[in-house]
Amino acid sequence: YDAGEFTLEKVRDYVWEIPQEGEMRVPARILASEALLDEISDDKTLEQLRNTTHLPGIRKYAICMPDGHQGYGFPVGGVAGIDTEDGCISPGAVGYDINCGVRMMKTNLTYDDLQGREEELVDKLFANIPSGLGGGGIYEGDNEDVEAVLNRGMDWALEHGYAVEDDLAHCEDEGYRPEADASKISQKAKDRGKNQIGSLGSGNHFLEVQRVTDVYREDVAADFGLAEEQVVVLIHCGSRGLGHQVCTDYLRDIEQTHQGLLDQLPDKELAAAPAGSQLAEDYYEAMCAAINFAWVNRQLIMHRTRRVFEQVFDRSWEEMEMDLLYDVAHNIAKKEVHDVAVDEDDTDERELFVHRKGATRAFPAGRPEVPEAYRDVGQPIIIPGSMGSGSYVLRGGEHSLAETFGSTAHGAGRLMSRTQAKQEFWGEDVQDALREQDHIYVKAQSGATVAEEAPGVYKDVDEVVRVSDALGIGDRVARTFPVCNIKG
Ligand code: 5GP
Ligand code: MN
Ligand code: MN
Repeated sequence: YDAGEFTLEKVRDYVWEIPQEGEMRVPARILASEALLDEISDDKTLEQLRNTTHLPGIRKYAICMPDGHQGYGFPVGGVAGIDTEDGCISPGAVGYDINCGVRMMKTNLTYDDLQGREEELVDKLFANIPSGLGGGGIYEGDNEDVEAVLNRGMDWALEHGYAVEDDLAHCEDEGYRPEADASKISQKAKDRGKNQIGSLGSGNHFLEVQRVTDVYREDVAADFGLAEEQVVVLIHCGSRGLGHQVCTDYLRDIEQTHQGLLDQLPDKELAAAPAGSQLAEDYYEAMCAAINFAWVNRQLIMHRTRRVFEQVFDRSWEEMEMDLLYDVAHNIAKKEVHDVAVDEDDTDERELFVHRKGATRAFPAGRPEVPEAYRDVGQPIIIPGSMGSGSYVLRGGEHSLAETFGSTAHGAGRLMSRTQAKQEFWGEDVQDALREQDHIYVKAQSGATVAEEAPGVYKDVDEVVRVSDALGIGDRVARTFPVCNIKG
């Protein structure tokens, strides 16, 4: 495949390689169809992916998912497994929005129950769930509260009546990273988080009521408790200004302290702290705290959503069986043990910082980290598409550990910059068209947000998921379609 500066070798269907050369420590791989590759090679994604292979301790290959596009230093849709002993950790390869992620809540309502009430539901959700750039969250905390959230994650939500045990059991890491240490986070970051606990934020973050339109694997869908016509709720947000500040703070400190490592890298934005250094440890513990913050954030929003449904449908949330299917992060670095042997006949188990930026963990059945409810089936994966297209539920595929350190895509992936989007689309027109043609009710803080997030700014999610399924890294289980959508 000829991608201008790069010639990609085809390893097999949907697997392309930038061979190792020069200062590259490993090859780079792109998982995509030719149609997606045309889009991936259109911006700086391939260059950024190749730059990543220069990071010390990177194992096997740097990987770009089918929804990949350029990001800060490291592509969105990028995965890098980097040795925790002789490697490094890179905030740019985690992303600014630490533990941005998605959760899906089920209901026992069907689309029939909802029809005619969409307007009321979307208005009440919009009125009750804080969104946009302005301050204000569901929980107004002081410094001590923020620190408790940071250190304890979803346990804090449980103790304060915002969660039930079952919610924790259906969350990646049970919504709690024990390595978290709030004292590793600056006061400035805490101050930014203080009035944002339980808030969507702006732009790409959203809450969407959806209906299940297709089921591809009946048995897995049954295990997940999903069926056609069922109403579900998708929540996408992260750690707000707090996570962003943590990334900013540590990038600056790492650039200053580890100039030597930085000089070896082709891009300053990849700044990394060497494994074993004080800053590597501090950043990891700070990141884990921001991860906890994001889990609490999504939990509070889900809790408030249950309340809104109770008002609109005049039944308790328990009666409506509004249970969490799963919550999964897509901007994160985690210590995980993987087999890094390149030759299939060898094994070489190593502990890695698995960096997933715009990539979702996709562990198959059997992996101990998968919660008990799904241990025999594989972990649920949630892949949003756009406010005007399908979204997907997948399950961790059999080949994900061998191919991608147990990861897959995280969305459709952006096709167009925000600036370009605002030239192409007008918010109100997009909203009107969605309502009239597709019966989708969108409510946003500003028309600009709708334009920036119009369905046309994203790639084809069906194609992204088709590739994930064909590779066996994330298997297609069900497809959903939007009914109501609120945005910041
Ligand atoms: P990111 O975390 O990279 O900002 O976005 C994740 C993915 O969410 C995007 O790649 C896009 O496919 C998807 N997405 C963005 N806005 C919406 C929305 O309003 N509804 C749905 N279902 N998906 C969206
Ligand atoms: Mn985010
Ligand atoms: Mn996200």
